[in-house]
Amino acid sequence: MTDSPLAFDPSCMDDYDPHSLTVDQAWERIRQAIAPVAGAELLGIADALGRVVSDDVPSPIAVPPTDNSAMDGYALRYADLPAEGTAKLRVVGESFAGRPYAGAAVEAGETVRIMTGAVIPAGCDTVLMQERVERDGDSLRVSGGYRLGENVRSAGDDIRPGQNVLLAGTRLTPAALGVLASLGIAEVKVRRRPRVAFFSTGDELCPVGQIPGPGDIYDSNRYTLNAMIRRLGADPLDLGVVRDRRQDVRDAFEQAAALGDMVITSGGVSVGEADFVKETLEEMGQVGFWKIAMKPGRPLAFGSLGRAFFFGLPGNPVSVMATFYQFVQPALRLMMGEPEPTPVLVPVRCTSRLKKSAGRMELQRGVLAYDENGRITVSTTGLQGSHVLTSMARANCFIVLPLENAGVEPGDTVLIQPFEGLI
Ligand code: AMP
Ligand code: MG
Repeated sequence: MTDSPLAFDPSCMDDYDPHSLTVDQAWERIRQAIAPVAGAELLGIADALGRVVSDDVPSPIAVPPTDNSAMDGYALRYADLPAEGTAKLRVVGESFAGRPYAGAAVEAGETVRIMTGAVIPAGCDTVLMQERVERDGDSLRVSGGYRLGENVRSAGDDIRPGQNVLLAGTRLTPAALGVLASLGIAEVKVRRRPRVAFFSTGDELCPVGQIPGPGDIYDSNRYTLNAMIRRLGADPLDLGVVRDRRQDVRDAFEQAAALGDMVITSGGVSVGEADFVKETLEEMGQVGFWKIAMKPGRPLAFGSLGRAFFFGLPGNPVSVMATFYQFVQPALRLMMGEPEPTPVLVPVRCTSRLKKSAGRMELQRGVLAYDENGRITVSTTGLQGSHVLTSMARANCFIVLPLENAGVEPGDTVLIQPFEGLI
């Protein structure tokens, strides 16, 4: 396919290799293939939370906009301070935050009462703290020993006009939106949200709201996928449940490829008789790789379908979430224009015994809590089957056990990936 977005040549890849790729190898291939979506839009800052800035944002103004006082005290001319002994100055007015001194430039021998944050009156260059002076009516007694510019915050010492305050690729957090507001910037150019078309495959799947037949189960993957895509700030497009029939899968692929910048399927990627995702992708697109040394998660397909990137996730509900967080989410963040995200891995003492076989990376579900000494610890949620979705709902972190790890004893330190953070 000439318009494939894949940056690598899939023919030289070990898609059917019995040896699985490690998580790092798999991610490396995804990272090299993925490119940001084209297109941007201008949004009001109240509507831009979670979107990604498409161009650097220079400040239109200086912050602070004027020289202002860092203290409550008196603004004066440094040259009026005596070399020794004391001098008397005349108080000619006041400068409050939001109500600057209205008089003409301050002359020699004059001073202005000033509050923190208030504009330094013209002619003044230094502020003395009120505790350091003696006032008597309109007269102020001052001594020497100060520095020129003392207690004056200069215009632009936080941000100079033209200085970039946000760089392209910044995800807009509440703080970043606050920064834009503080500069009077009402609108921001953000990258278009990637459209993510997804569907579930499986004859046994019953959509929520319908009555399951014998042996059927409710389809949960479309709901977790929808929520994960939406929370990331991408645009989810739910294409429903697709039956395990060759033609139905083909039709769904065609529809998804026409609509999505990314296509995600769940189920049907094993080598069972009703698993048509892999062969359909071979027919209609390109398969990047197939097996990953990760539990839950294998098998996993990555490739392209028309102009869309393609992820064929396993069917088990926990595998869907684990592979999404491990591979799809960072890929989508690259498509959204963010730089490559660095996984957050925190060492924490584990209070549970964890079973693990070597030779694959495992993402077990954990609960972070504080022990009696106020130290943070992690324990297992219990059953770790990739069909046990309640273990994901109860968990607040993944316990990341690397390839070579052969099990954890209570008291061992493990690396965890928190599900939530302040963003
Ligand atoms: P598969 O990869 O299609 O063989 O699916 C693996 C397991 O995941 C099977 O037990 C399926 O019933 C289950 N499964 C597949 N898709 C879904 C879904 N959308 N929601 C819940 N379970 C699913
Ligand atoms: Mg299936």
